[in-house]
Amino acid sequence: MTATLRCSSCDARQPFDAPITRCPACGGLLEVDRPDQPADIAARFADRGRCTAWLSRSGVWRFRELILPEARDADIVSWPEGNTPLIERESVSNWAGCRRLTLKHEGMNPTGSFKDRGMTVAVSQARRLGMTGVACASTGNTSASLAAYAAQAGLTGVVLIPAGRTALGKLAQTVAYGARILAVRGDFDACLDLVGRASGSLGLYLVNSINPFRLLGQRTIGFEILEDRRWRAPDWIALPAGNLGNTSAIGAALLDAKRLGLIDRVPRLAAIQAAGAAPFAQSFAGGFAERFTVEAETVATAIRIGNPASHDRAVAVIRGTNGVVTSVTDEEILAAKAVIDGAGVGCEPASAASVAGVRRLVAEGTIGRDDEVVAILTGHLLKDPEILLKAGGGGITEIDPTLAAVEAAIRNG
Ligand SMILES: *Cc1c(COP(=O)(O)O)cnc(C)c1O
Repeated sequence: MTATLRCSSCDARQPFDAPITRCPACGGLLEVDRPDQPADIAARFADRGRCTAWLSRSGVWRFRELILPEARDADIVSWPEGNTPLIERESVSNWAGCRRLTLKHEGMNPTGSFKDRGMTVAVSQARRLGMTGVACASTGNTSASLAAYAAQAGLTGVVLIPAGRTALGKLAQTVAYGARILAVRGDFDACLDLVGRASGSLGLYLVNSINPFRLLGQRTIGFEILEDRRWRAPDWIALPAGNLGNTSAIGAALLDAKRLGLIDRVPRLAAIQAAGAAPFAQSFAGGFAERFTVEAETVATAIRIGNPASHDRAVAVIRGTNGVVTSVTDEEILAAKAVIDGAGVGCEPASAASVAGVRRLVAEGTIGRDDEVVAILTGHLLKDPEILLKAGGGGITEIDPTLAAVEAAIRNG
C-alpha cells in the first residue's frame, strides 16, 4: 500500500501529495500513513550509522591519533562537536563567480562556531592537568564555547570581553552557561594582554588560540573537509582570518595530511581579513617582510583584531601551502552575507568574509572560475541578530489583524 494522508477524526484518506493541511471532508487534522517499510530496514540504518561509540561520534576525537592520543576517555570533555556539513548553493557560487564552490558550515557546531573544536581539546587538557579553572579573552565565540565546556567539565570559566562590543547571541550564550564575565573597557587586544597576565597570577588555564591544544582541535576542520571529500584535495580552502589561530591550525592540518600520505597535493589557503582589521594582509602584500599592528574596526566582530597572536605560525602555513592573504570591505562582507542568508544557509558577518574573499580572488584571477574551492563559514547566523534587525528588519510589515490587511500586504509585495 502506498502512503496517504489520513484524517485522524473521520479516517478519510487523501493523496499523499495533496497540498492540504486539514481534512477536506471534516476539517480534522491529518497524519501521514505509511503502512509498508522495507524489510531490510535495520540493516540499512546500521549501515548508515556505522559508528556508535560516543567519542567516535565527535568530529574532533574521531581523529584522536592526530589530536591528543595521550587523553584517556575519562579525561575527554566532548559535546560531541564537529561533523559539520559541506553544502553547495548555486546562488552563492554564482555570486562568487566560482562554479565549484562548497561551503563548510562550522556554525553547526554545538555552540555555533568552530571554536568548539579547539575548546573540547583545551578543556580536556585542563582536566588532564588538574586545573580548576579556564580563562580566555574573546570577541565572543571563544567565550561562548569556553563557558559551555567549562560547565560540562565542572571547571570555573572566566572570560574577558571588550565592554559593549560583543555580539548579542555570543554574550547571551556565555551568560546562560554560567561563566564569570569581565567586560573590559578596552578592545580585544587589551583583553588578550590582560588575560595572559591574570591567568598566571590566578592559576587559571589559558585557552585562547595561542594555546596549542586549541589549535590541535581546530586542525580537524581540515581533516574533516578532506575526509568528507574522500581525501581528494580541493584547489583552495578559504577562511576568515582574525587572530590567525584557525589559519595556522587548518594550514598545519593540510601539511600534515600531505606528509602522512592522506592526500597527494596540498590545497592552497586563502586567508581573508576585513579591510578595517587587515594587518596580516598588509604584511603578506610586502612579502611578510614586516609585521603590522592596526586599530581594528569592522562589522565582522569575530575578526576585529589588530594584533594577531598567531602571526608567525600563520606566515609559515601561508608559505607552506602557497597560500594568499587578502582583505574585503565591510560592504563586500555584508553583500556576501546577504547572499548566504538569502540562500537559506545563513552565517554571522565574519564568516561571510570567506565568500566575499573568494569573489574578490576570482575577479582578480587568482582563483580560477573552475577551481574547486571550499569556503569555511565559521559561525552561525544567530550569533549576531542585531546586525540584521538594525539594517531595518527587511521583510517585516506590521498590519492590523484582518484578512484584507494580509492580502493587501502580500499582493503589494
Ligand atoms: C574566531 C573566529 C574567527 C577568526 O578566527 P581566528 O583564529 O581568530 O583567525 C572567524 N570567524 C568566527 C565566527 C570566529 O568565531
